[in-house]
Amino acid sequence: MTAEIARRILVGAAGEALCHSCLAFACSVSLPVVRRVAEELLTSASFQRRDRCARCRHTVPAICFAGKCAHCSLAVLPGEDALEIDGDTFHAACLRRLATAETIRLARKLTRTSRQLIEQARRRMRDRGRRDVPSR
Ligand SMILES: [Zn+2]
Ligand SMILES: [Zn+2]
Repeated sequence: MTAEIARRILVGAAGEALCHSCLAFACSVSLPVVRRVAEELLTSASFQRRDRCARCRHTVPAICFAGKCAHCSLAVLPGEDALEIDGDTFHAACLRRLATAETIRLARKLTRTSRQLIEQARRRMRDRGRRDVPSR
């Protein structure tokens, strides 16, 4: 749970290294907990060890999120919005683009379905119209 919070904080501050004390403060947990969490996060390729904290500016061991976008495969730069989903990092902008593409795909499918329904309804109306014509 703490790992998840720490991860989110670091991803949110992509490219910005945070020392253990700053991370502990941000997560409101104790230093030993953060140390353990940091070690855990550093096993992932998206997190890197730094020797200076971007927040308190002390030369201390720090951890930094330096992921690559799973969509455009460019590095997530400091100050850029990034999100991590199932271990994949995305630029917020790329994710928005992806989400839009997905929405468009769904919208197209919907249109196709409604077009089919309209077509069915038309055919039914035509058939009924034919049947309704009195045969003399
Ligand atoms: Zn710090
Ligand atoms: Zn991207």
